[in-house]
Amino acid sequence: ERKPVVAGNWKMNFDHLEATYFVQKLAWTLRDANFDFKRCEVTLMPPFTSIRSVQVLIDADRLKLTYGAQAVSVTNQGAFTGDVSADMLARLGCKYVLVGHSERRKYHPEDDANIVDQVRAVLTAGMRPILCVGESFEERRQGIELEFAVGQVQDVIRDLSDKEAAHMLIAYEPVWAIGTGMVATPESAQQAASAIRSHLNEVYGETVSDRVRILYGGSVNASNATQLMQEGHDIDGFLVGGASLDADEFATIARLTS
Ligand code: 13P
Repeated sequence: ERKPVVAGNWKMNFDHLEATYFVQKLAWTLRDANFDFKRCEVTLMPPFTSIRSVQVLIDADRLKLTYGAQAVSVTNQGAFTGDVSADMLARLGCKYVLVGHSERRKYHPEDDANIVDQVRAVLTAGMRPILCVGESFEERRQGIELEFAVGQVQDVIRDLSDKEAAHMLIAYEPVWAIGTGMVATPESAQQAASAIRSHLNEVYGETVSDRVRILYGGSVNASNATQLMQEGHDIDGFLVGGASLDADEFATIARLTS
């Protein structure tokens, strides 16, 4: 059985003080609701500058939350001004790193080759990549959204070993659904997750395809999470942007996913 995971992608929100306040509030809210971490993992993706505060608080209070980063360099050290390496993130206790988020693909020169290298860097450092894929409105209009999303997965995973592939998570995030309030229908989110899982099955077989968690992302909130989970036998949780910035709402999404 795959354990569901709810991941909060804070994007460029919450400095290190706000992060501390938020994590305390989230932890209290989950505790009050008797949240069962055995049934659902709750993970946070703060900006680089807030990771250390999140780590210190989680360690000090022995919270069961996990955390990761939103981006990573493909190189491990050297003259790369402004970059942060996978080893640095691993040493901060990061469990996950988002790779290929559409906002990174859009605002930074990240192409498939670069994304493959990021996946490698994350795996080599002992963390798990959360590979983000998903079509834009144009591909959806043309009716090629499934081929597009599966193609993005294919381009990135083709050189990975079974063991490496088994360590990945995939987030299906249609670009038109991100930050727009236009959530995918539960049927179409399930369809995409199922197409991605079938592809994993073709390439790696069932041991891998049964293990990889596939998340849905794009305008997830406390009102649509239940339906998405119910429809989606292949959906193992959510990658949440806007709604992850409200501790009450994010805790509710986690409860509905567990
Ligand atoms: P929203 O939940 O704000 O639509 O963002 C989704 C996202 O990009 C998560 O990575």
